[in-house]
Amino acid sequence: MPMQKVSNEVGLEAKDPFELRVNLGVEVSESAVTSALKTGDTGFLHSFTTGSTVDGPGVRVVAWTAGCQFRCLYCHNPDTWNMMNGMPVTLDRAIEALRKYRHGLKLMFGGFTLSGGEPLMQDRFAARLFTAAKSLGIHTALDTNGYLGERLSDNELEQIDVVLLDIKAWDPEKHRQLTAKEVGPTLDFARRLAARKRPIWLRYVLVPGLTDDENDINQIAMFAARLGNVARVDVLPFHQMGRYKWKKLGVDYALDEVAAAAPWLVERVCGQFRAVGLTAY
Ligand code: SF4
Repeated sequence: MPMQKVSNEVGLEAKDPFELRVNLGVEVSESAVTSALKTGDTGFLHSFTTGSTVDGPGVRVVAWTAGCQFRCLYCHNPDTWNMMNGMPVTLDRAIEALRKYRHGLKLMFGGFTLSGGEPLMQDRFAARLFTAAKSLGIHTALDTNGYLGERLSDNELEQIDVVLLDIKAWDPEKHRQLTAKEVGPTLDFARRLAARKRPIWLRYVLVPGLTDDENDINQIAMFAARLGNVARVDVLPFHQMGRYKWKKLGVDYALDEVAAAAPWLVERVCGQFRAVGLTAY
């Protein structure tokens, strides 16, 4: 069934992922969505952005997917939770967009990152896009919460040069309160990546008073060090750039009063990862 492009005014490229985008796919029928998810012929994207230097090595083109099964209290992009907020984009169109950038990305030692939302909500589209990117000679990165990692086969994992894996919390109850989901599948995916020797960049969002518990962070650090495939850790200080989206979407935002993470706190947490031999920024 052909997909309908709903909005002619909204282009695939956005200035940055903090641009609020909603209801780009509302007129796509349920059966078309089901078929798209099964085949990967079409993906639902919030946007493409170019020139990122924080989503993998070098300069990156990033495709932001729509749809996420987590509900992180600190989410910067709640407009990506609902897949129907994404724009239907055929796999061919996405590959063409990548082809356009491939020479520039090579010159800038960069590549392509699939982020979200949670890209593995659209695992067939993700796997096929990574395979296409690799065949174009483009370095690939997957930015994921890891919950659906089992959806990728071992061969598909080989198409991903680095996994940017978010571990949100160590304590199972804290993780549930923070994300509304279990932590176990994320840790299992990390172990599987280690067994397959696929590099991980670990990402940890640091929120004062919420995810700054020393013991919890030490547990994550020791787990990551034992894996043996964590190339670096990025401690991402919480900020309020996504707050306006919660308000506009009319969703209760629990972190309204929370301040951005201070440099001394970021340094303390980086120090905890460094203490177990990891490289942390
Ligand atoms: S996993 Fe990412 S996109 Fe999903 S709710 Fe959490 S922060 Fe938001």
